[in-house]
Amino acid sequence: MKRVIDGARIWDGANSFDEKGTIIIDDGKIEAVLTGAERDRYKPPASAERIDGDGKLAIPGLVNAHTHLYSSLARGMALPNYSPRTFTQILEQLWWRLDKALDPASVRASALVGAMEAARCGVTTLIDHHASPHAVTGSLRAVKGAVNDDIGLRGAFCYELSDRDGMAIRDVGIEENLEFLSSDDPTDTMCTALFGLHASFTLSDESLSMVSERIPEGAGVHIHVAEGPEDEEQCQAEHGMRIVERLYKFNLLRERSVLAHCLHIDEAEKDMVAGSMATVVHNPRSNMNNAVGVFDMGGFLRRGITVGLGTDGLGANMLSELFTAGILQKVSTEDSLAAGFGDLQKILFDNNPHIASQLLGAQLGRIAPGYEADIALFDYDPPTPIDAGNVLGHVLFGIAVHDLHVSDLIVAGRSVIRDAHFANLDEDAVYAQARKEATALWARIS
Ligand SMILES: [Zn+2]
Repeated sequence: MKRVIDGARIWDGANSFDEKGTIIIDDGKIEAVLTGAERDRYKPPASAERIDGDGKLAIPGLVNAHTHLYSSLARGMALPNYSPRTFTQILEQLWWRLDKALDPASVRASALVGAMEAARCGVTTLIDHHASPHAVTGSLRAVKGAVNDDIGLRGAFCYELSDRDGMAIRDVGIEENLEFLSSDDPTDTMCTALFGLHASFTLSDESLSMVSERIPEGAGVHIHVAEGPEDEEQCQAEHGMRIVERLYKFNLLRERSVLAHCLHIDEAEKDMVAGSMATVVHNPRSNMNNAVGVFDMGGFLRRGITVGLGTDGLGANMLSELFTAGILQKVSTEDSLAAGFGDLQKILFDNNPHIASQLLGAQLGRIAPGYEADIALFDYDPPTPIDAGNVLGHVLFGIAVHDLHVSDLIVAGRSVIRDAHFANLDEDAVYAQARKEATALWARIS
């Protein structure tokens, strides 16, 4: 069925802006974007669904390049004896207590509410990093089921392999990744698989060897790299090398790989990343919240490294995350010109869709003919002029700063959100179930 978004302001995600246009969607893809006389002449077929774009701004659907949907039920959770002084203690006192208490029902509830909140913020693709060490087997199918089938977003999924819960759980984690990778259909542009690794400091040489031997050719890894200073310190003390060198040694610095954070890698490691086909994902709000350091945005971009943006599970609002990425660079360098609009636009509107397009085998990230029909519509009627030259300023200082949610979200040509409500979900029922699961989850945490 054709869908027509009629009369919206349209930003293509690059250099083109139309004050009033019509987007024609057919078979999951954007067939045409009409403006001016061409738009006036167009008569949609009677069977086409019309979405009124009047007073709305259409932008390409957003990608969250590193997230943890399993963290969704942590909101408001009180933890006795929580007083971390280091990043490792944050993991030990919070996240590793939470993930151990997840069961299949809470994994599903977490994924559902996390993906719903992402959708409300205009996100159409999630690159997720999942952990539930006492409910490993089948967990990736459960997360995929929530993201792809129940909500209708795209996703790249993996299980966070780690030695931290013992060798039996590690071995099940390897099998979960391999099983999900083996089910990856390269023609399915809604879903793909990566091999998930927690971080260098929780994986022995034996574990990395096993991954290296068994990971399918052409598969990428999704791993935290040097998020806290401890990761590099441990790597040098235990293995006599730095983390990126260690990944290279095990043939895991490879194409399709996503390296989250990279806060404490040195200049030589950045050069190694630049020489690989791996991408780096920056998560500014998580980094600030964990007090782990500041990302060297300029150093990575200068080297031509594909720098993407993620939330690391701290919410899902990619436009606010982008705004924060900018102001973090300004405050940390004491330079108001740091992280200019060019860099920020490149990271969220070029690099994130490039990363997702490569993983999913789809053409994402533009409102232009031939691209996948992934479109976020915001009720946004600005009080100041808007055009191709300043639209990113409106996105950051209008939509992001005011935390606006989408009125409509379209993924692969299908309506996920219509008039601010999920098209195929009973939101109240999902939230009621999530509160029930969260209560039980919190009670299980010791
Ligand atoms: Zn993370």
